[in-house]
Amino acid sequence: PFVIGSACIDTMDKSCMEECPVDCIYEGDRKLYIQPNECIDCGACEAVCPVEAISPHRKVPEEQKEFVADNARFFLDV
Ligand code: SF4
Repeated sequence: PFVIGSACIDTMDKSCMEECPVDCIYEGDRKLYIQPNECIDCGACEAVCPVEAISPHRKVPEEQKEFVADNARFFLDV
């Protein structure tokens, strides 16, 4: 799945939500989150993000790794 990192915080442009073919991007309080069980790895969201906040799970930069855990927490809570 793809993961949304820190650049989305307080940006929440939502272009990705419009592009996602399976509607698996959800709104949190300050950023958007991709539901990993629903994401089909198409990459459409990554291409349209104006702040380049989105990366594939395996390519999340080291300093953004906390967002993988943050993402998992978000979907446990909903
Ligand atoms: Fe949606 Fe595709 Fe992005 Fe996954 S990679 S969140 S399916 S647009």
